[in-house]
Amino acid sequence: MLIAGIVIAAALFGHLTRPLGFLSTFWPANALLMGVMVRNPGWAGPLGWASAAVGYLAADFAMGGGLGITLWLTAGNLTTASVGYLLFQRVAGTDRRLERPQSLLFLLLVAFAAAASASAVGSGCLVVYFGQPPMQAFEFFLISEFSGNLVVLPMVLTAPPLAELARQLSAHASPSRWRPKAILPGIILLASILVATAIGGSSAIAIPVPAILWCALSYGIFPTALLTFGLGLWQSTVLLSALTPGTPEYAVALTSHRFGVALFSLGPIMVAAINAARSRLLRELDLAANQDALTGVLSRRAFLLRSEAILTGTPAVPRPVALLMLDVDRFKRINDDHGHAAGDEALVALAGHIATLLRPSDLFGRLGGEEFAILLPDLSQPAALALAERVRDGCARLRIPVDKRAPLALTISIGLVSGAAGESLQHLLQEADAALYRAKQAGRDRVFAARLAA
Ligand code: GH3
Ligand code: MG
Ligand code: MG
Repeated sequence: MLIAGIVIAAALFGHLTRPLGFLSTFWPANALLMGVMVRNPGWAGPLGWASAAVGYLAADFAMGGGLGITLWLTAGNLTTASVGYLLFQRVAGTDRRLERPQSLLFLLLVAFAAAASASAVGSGCLVVYFGQPPMQAFEFFLISEFSGNLVVLPMVLTAPPLAELARQLSAHASPSRWRPKAILPGIILLASILVATAIGGSSAIAIPVPAILWCALSYGIFPTALLTFGLGLWQSTVLLSALTPGTPEYAVALTSHRFGVALFSLGPIMVAAINAARSRLLRELDLAANQDALTGVLSRRAFLLRSEAILTGTPAVPRPVALLMLDVDRFKRINDDHGHAAGDEALVALAGHIATLLRPSDLFGRLGGEEFAILLPDLSQPAALALAERVRDGCARLRIPVDKRAPLALTISIGLVSGAAGESLQHLLQEADAALYRAKQAGRDRVFAARLAA
């Protein structure tokens, strides 16, 4: 039902753009069906394809098509969708979702192969029923399908799941949250479409290029695909209607225009794909540089850099800051008794638990091995001491299931130093380390504060 509904809606939409007399200028149904099947391969069984056929036939009969022509065109329509679906099955998942710049090459090849197959099946209909020369009929059918595929497919292939889409829409729904910087590319795109419509002529389709590329850099791949779909629709209806039928140049201009529409969308989508791949890479690099790979807390480097930044920030009034240095007690024994992997699991559980006791503004990093540090901005010494006690006590109560034996229990020792923003990090680290040493000396599982008397 859903598939038939999608096909009927898209086909009726296509029928609305029928200024050329016999076939629609813009026929999104086949590419939409192909994309839906590629995204939901479970639907691409006999029942799914039969529903699609019913959808095409229903829409055509509703628009008053004759039996022969309707059956023939439906065969062509189904060829685009099924050939495209089968070819996409041979493409890697990352490329089906257009996640790499190279994916656009696969899209181009599949779009063309599906269009050529459909034209081989369906273009004879134009020869028989409309008296078109065979070559011209083939070319016309091919370009219709090709441009439909390239304009519609990126949108369907990159659409987020419905729940995610709803979440994003509600996040951006309120105009009060629209920042000028975010909406400007869209406004300029709209303006350039109006300018291009007013100017007209053979190159008008290229006028929105700068604006759509800016959108591609600003909005991500799916919104860009939506915008190129809108542009494709405008290019194949409004701009096309400016061409005058009947002139000798018309056939050439029409073919050229429709090829332009088809290939136009590749540029913006490619830019959006490159930009998304680059952002992903930067995020991964950021994680690799700033996150400890085992525990997920800050890496030593990131902890030191960010602590330094907090300490050297110059607030109007000097603000208190505390630094805790934590070391697991007798950790070597845990490794010896339970194995190194169990030791790793214990570190992960411990870090995860400590993180739950901290504020978002606190910095928590792994300095190395089983040694961690916490920087607590804007916390007085008594409050820092209380927190350190909570951390120590929380760790002592933690039971970590690492193997079949009884859950593992461990304790930590903490060295604490309080100071004011502006002090040198190096100095604070040395004092916290010395305090930690004293905590170990005093018997472990305890907090020792430097400068408590101060
Ligand atoms: P204490 O600190 O109480 O004096 O005793 P300890 O046994 O913890 O002493 P030490 O700090 O000298 O030893 C730390 C041990 O932690 C040594 C090393 O085998 C182990 N270790 C360090 N990094 C890791 C790690 O990433 N995973 C595991 N499983 N063990 C680690
Ligand atoms: Mg230790
Ligand atoms: Mg140690």
